[in-house]
Parts: sequence; C-alpha cells; structure tokens
Amino acid sequence: MEVKPGRRRVLLVPVPAQGHISPMMQLAKTLHSKGFSITVAQTKFNYFIPSDDFSDFQFVTIPESLPETDFENLRPVLFLLKLNKECQASFKDCLSHLLLQHSSDISCVIIYDEFMYFAKAVAKEFKLPNVIFSTTNATTFFCRAVFEKLDANNVLSPLKDSEGKENELVPGLHPLRYKDLPTSKFAPLEKTLELYRSTVDKQAASCVIINTASCLENSSLCCLQQQLDIPVYPIGPLHMVSSAPTSLLEENKSCIEWLDEQKRNSVIFVSLGSLALMETNEVMEMASGLDSSKQHFLWVIKPGSIRGSEWIEFLPEEFSEMVSGRGYVVKWAPQKEVLAHHGVGGFWSHCGWNSTLESIGEGVPVICRPSSSDQKVNAGYLDCVWRIGIQVEGEVERRAVERAVKRVMVGEEGEEMRKRAMCLKERLRASVGEGGSSHKSLHEFVHFIKSL
Ligand code: UDP
Repeated sequence: MEVKPGRRRVLLVPVPAQGHISPMMQLAKTLHSKGFSITVAQTKFNYFIPSDDFSDFQFVTIPESLPETDFENLRPVLFLLKLNKECQASFKDCLSHLLLQHSSDISCVIIYDEFMYFAKAVAKEFKLPNVIFSTTNATTFFCRAVFEKLDANNVLSPLKDSEGKENELVPGLHPLRYKDLPTSKFAPLEKTLELYRSTVDKQAASCVIINTASCLENSSLCCLQQQLDIPVYPIGPLHMVSSAPTSLLEENKSCIEWLDEQKRNSVIFVSLGSLALMETNEVMEMASGLDSSKQHFLWVIKPGSIRGSEWIEFLPEEFSEMVSGRGYVVKWAPQKEVLAHHGVGGFWSHCGWNSTLESIGEGVPVICRPSSSDQKVNAGYLDCVWRIGIQVEGEVERRAVERAVKRVMVGEEGEEMRKRAMCLKERLRASVGEGGSSHKSLHEFVHFIKSL
C-alpha cells in the first residue's frame, strides 16, 4: 500500500464479530472521508475481507494462537477474556512495526472496540492517544459502569440467588428490570463482571464514541457523561452515515425479488443476528406460529444456528410444509435493504444493537426476542421507552408467536407502533443530517482527535 506522508492515521481494532465489525468499518469509512489514513488490525476470527470500497485502507493481522473453535465454543464473554490476554503482547509487536512503517504520519490514534481493551494497555505503553468505541448503546454502557457498584452493594443478588425478583425494576435504571440487565446467558456472572470491569477504565482513554443518537437515549447519555470525566460523543447511527458493504457472509439478494411481489407492510422479517443458537423444537414452534399467523414471512436461518444441524436439512418434514406457503427462508439476507423494503411491516428480532438501529432507521416495529447481554436492554427500550416493540418472553411457543405476529402486523396496535417508528426514523435522519446532533458530535470528535 502506498503511504501518504503527513496524514493523521487512525488504527482501528474491532471485535471479530459481525455486529462489531460493521459499525467499526462504517466508522473507518467516515473518518477516511474526513482525511484520515486508516489501518485496521484484526485477528483470524471472522476475518473481514475488504471489498474495493476499502482499497485505500491497510489491513494487518494480530497474530495469536487460539484454537479456531474458541469463538463458537466460548461464546462472547469467555472468548473475549481469553482473546484480550492472548493479544496484548502480539499487538505490541504489531504496533511497533506499524509506527516504524508510518513514521512520516503526523500522529496515530488508536480507536478500539470497548471489548478489545488490550489495545488500551498497549496504547498507554506507547503514549498514544486512544479512543473507546462502544458499538452497543449508551444505556448498556451506563449499566455496565454501574454493574460493579450494584454488585458491591449486593444489589445483584436477585440475579445470583434467583430470589424471584427478576421482574422488579432496578433502582436508577428505569424501565429496566433485573432480568433486563446485560448479563450473558453463556457465562457466569463473575466472568461477565470481570469483562465489564476491564472495559471501564476511564483513566486510560481520551474520549468515548458511541454508535447512538441523543434522540434515542438522551438521559443515559447525560448519566454516562456525568460518570466519565472524558468527553462522550454520540455519533450514530453509523449505518446512516456510511453505506459501505460490511457483511462477512454472502447476502442472498433473491429475497428482495420475493419481497417485490408482496403487498405493502405485509411481511414479517425474522432474523436473530449473527450469533444466535436455536434448538430444533424452538425452530418448529416458530414455524408453526408464523404459519398460523397467516402472514407472509422472510426468515433468515444462518447455517450453524440450529444446534446439531448444518442448516435446516435435519428438521422434521412439517417444517417445509409450514414455511412453503407464505414463507421464504434464506441463509443470510441484505438486512438493511430488507428493512427498507415497503413490503416489510414488522421485524422479529433478537434486538442486537445494529438490528435495533437498522429497524428504527427504517421505521419498522419490532417483536423483541432478546437472548443475552445488551439485547435485553434494547428490548426494554423498544418496548417501554420508544414504544415501537413488544416483548415475547418465556419459552418460544407457537400460540405466543402467532399472537405477537398478529399484534404487530394486523390491527391498530401495530399501526400505532409503525407511526411512532416512522417518527423516530425521521428524528434519526435529522440527527445524522447537516446540523443534527450526531452530525455535530462527529464533527467535534474529529476536531478533538486532530488536536491530540
Ligand atoms: N445481518 C445481515 N443479514 C442477515 C442477518 C443480520 O446483514 O441476514 C446483519 C444486520 O444487518 C446487523 C448485523 O448483521 O448489522 C447483526 O448485528 P446485531 O448487533 O444486530 O446482532 P449480533 O449479530 O451482534 O448479535
């Protein structure tokens, strides 16, 4: 790659997962358009293979020797704890090499995903400015920051002891209940707390950027700003700022042609993100509920997302009968395009933060089926704060699926949610547009890192 002398370089360190890589690459494109040179440091896990859109960027690999299967087997919390330990020394070597290579650059700033905190320790050693990028939202960030306090005061005991208080509101975090706190389904609470403790080190960073907009969570942003003594910049939603292709998997575009044939707002889009894992009986309950709702549906079933199956080949025969009439199943969809399609009237979602932003960004109401971590916070906000979602709790059960789909797709309640979602969509558009809050925040952030 040709090195342009005298430019400011940003070194980006994404978490190797789709939901983190997308906003990081959107940020990279945005900063590049503002005159920064870009280097992206990745590990071998979920390696982002850049298209021509990223031809001016430098991609480097952080060497590590973790088993290939760790990402799948350890699920986020334990994997991230292990990855951070593993990468610190090799990232140091990687960075010294890069600094020599780019010695003509004016300066280098490291922007790391909040969960790649090994980068912070190395940046500190090299006395380089560094920025925390939160690819979740301000409310989750704030929850994590108060987690430790809650734990110290034994406020988290209902979670540990299953005292039946999980439906009670957490003091100071309205409208979140104990069960909505961003705990992981796949790791013990102690390990989750260990990870969160490592991410919240306000001393080391120059500032925090968050892929959110103040119109979505102004009070959480204010609380967070009060708690941190470094600037907090809400600069999102970044997918509305940059349209660069960031998918790790090939998107099946045939579903757009299928959608073209459907009536306005008549299709429920079902997608549970990049990390979901379902049991066969859950898939069958979903299929049955969707079928009896009598609505058309577009369903993403990612290969490997049904325990014990490559894809859908081992499902009972009734599965094909239930989806073949009104359904269309794909392995991976162009999700943003799908949500923007006039045929889509609702989104059955696991409520990952990107999916949440993408749904609001297109004015589509959500049936919330969170599984773990921040998804539960997002679902709480979709339902109780923005009032553009309904939560389906408990076991996946065919009648509950049918009822939820009908509530959102048919009748007045769904229509009201759709109207509120359309209003939020306009407010998000305004935020990222000229003079909007995220637009201004991004400008201030760029000015800030240029001054470092
Ligand atoms: N996605 C996609 N096609 C699909 C399913 C998901 O492009 O068929 C994208 C989606 O648009 C989103 C990302 O994958 O940007 C998932 O991120 P999210 O934060 O919602 O969930 P995660 O995968 O991290 O759980």
